[in-house]
Amino acid sequence: MATSPRVEFSAQELAALPHVVVVGGGFAGLATARKLANKPVRVTVIDRHNFHTFLPLLYQVATAGLEPADVAYPIRTIFGHATNIRVRHARVTRVDQERNVVVLDDGGEIAYDHLVVATGATASFFEIPGAADYSMPLYSLADARRLRNRLLRAIEEADVAESSSPVALHFVVVGGGPTGVETAGALSELIAIAIKRDGLRLDTSQVRIRLVDLAPRLLTAFPESASRYAEKELEKLGVVVECGRSVVEVEERAIRFADGERIEATVVIWAAGITARGTLAHDLEGPRGPGARALVGPDLRLVESANVWSVGDAAAMPDAQRSFYPQLAPVAIQSGAHCATQILRVLSGEATTAFHYRDKGIMATIGRRAAVAKLAHGGVIRGSAGWFAWLALHLWYLVGFRNRLRVMINWTWRYFDWPSGPRLIVADAETAE
Ligand SMILES: Cc1cc2nc3c(=O)[nH]c(=O)nc-3n(C[C@H](O)[C@H](O)[C@H](O)COP(=O)(O)OP(=O)(O)OC[C@H]3O[C@@H](n4cnc5c(N)ncnc54)[C@H](O)[C@@H]3O)c2cc1C
Repeated sequence: MATSPRVEFSAQELAALPHVVVVGGGFAGLATARKLANKPVRVTVIDRHNFHTFLPLLYQVATAGLEPADVAYPIRTIFGHATNIRVRHARVTRVDQERNVVVLDDGGEIAYDHLVVATGATASFFEIPGAADYSMPLYSLADARRLRNRLLRAIEEADVAESSSPVALHFVVVGGGPTGVETAGALSELIAIAIKRDGLRLDTSQVRIRLVDLAPRLLTAFPESASRYAEKELEKLGVVVECGRSVVEVEERAIRFADGERIEATVVIWAAGITARGTLAHDLEGPRGPGARALVGPDLRLVESANVWSVGDAAAMPDAQRSFYPQLAPVAIQSGAHCATQILRVLSGEATTAFHYRDKGIMATIGRRAAVAKLAHGGVIRGSAGWFAWLALHLWYLVGFRNRLRVMINWTWRYFDWPSGPRLIVADAETAE
């Protein structure tokens, strides 16, 4: 994303500028701060991690295709060039909208003139008993690393047991959206590669990956032809797709469905939905929108505030059809940039304008060589062409030249069926975390 020419601000000049605090260094927060770089405002970006995470590729970290460092980038490095941007590594615990301050986890406070809440969302377990305790969500780099360790450990255990008696290796992925589809496909490939290259003695007839969803088909945001294609490709990879199934309970090593079936499950992966409940955005003053998101007006300001804004997954942003924009990376990027422009307009006494998302389409991969992409005008690309489109787009948005290069080499390697991604269990031997 283009930024304005570099402007050197002296400490004195900076102190006199209005202070914009951006909470969250995800797609939305970064886009906001980038647009404010070198503009006459003082910006503080606060994130509980000192890195930005490229969430769309987490499933590849979880299935040992990529390394954590491939999908994360230090936030400080991104803004190192901009003298009007400071980065603070801290968690914001509360916003005091009366006093215009954010409260940090170390008890410190930071005052703002304008606040942008871009804190994203988190996994929603829909209050299904046991789901939060026993299933594994995929919403952060730590989640991805934990899931990878659990999957690799399960494979190791099965290999040991194999020498005495065959052991079932049942993985259940809950959620048939892009994350569930991508994870199920990549998991199947992980197991195939591990058997082929790592000498594991698994009885493949005992390995089962199920992808379950309440909806009547996979990828409901895509046209039906794309859902059928995804299902066929997953079945080729050995994934059992079960739509129209409702999960009612998750146990430590089992899952139960509404129809009464209970199956043993080595690992349950949760990719069923997201919510802003439990995040900073949910605790802001004012009404909520769907998914417990902070309800904002057309210019992205909280409906009852003059100087608090919310963007990306954290915000319920109204569209022209009286609905709300979806929680997607391009929506987050565009809303962040729009919000920055509106703050500058307010500061220069101009009227704000409404946010309109320019639809860039949506995509999902199914394994190493197939993908579906729904284009903005409704057309669908699939197969290798879809996969190359997916690859190009993700490389484009990935932050950092070295990350792009590493990921590109890795994917090229994988495409030609060579082993890739060291299958390392990086965890404390005592705690397994
Ligand atoms: C596994 C997965 C796969 C996805 N795949 C796709 C895809 O293929 N295509 C697509 O378009 N979208 C995809 N998405 C959705 C997309 O990633 C999100 O829409 C996008 O990340 C939203 O950006 P954001 O900046 O609003 O939130 P996030 O990217 O979640 O960033 C929020 C940031 O806020 C920080 N934060 C949160 N709370 C605090 C706090 N209290 N104090 C300080 N910092 C805080 C977090 O650390 C994080 O850095 C995927 C999401 C997931 C989880």
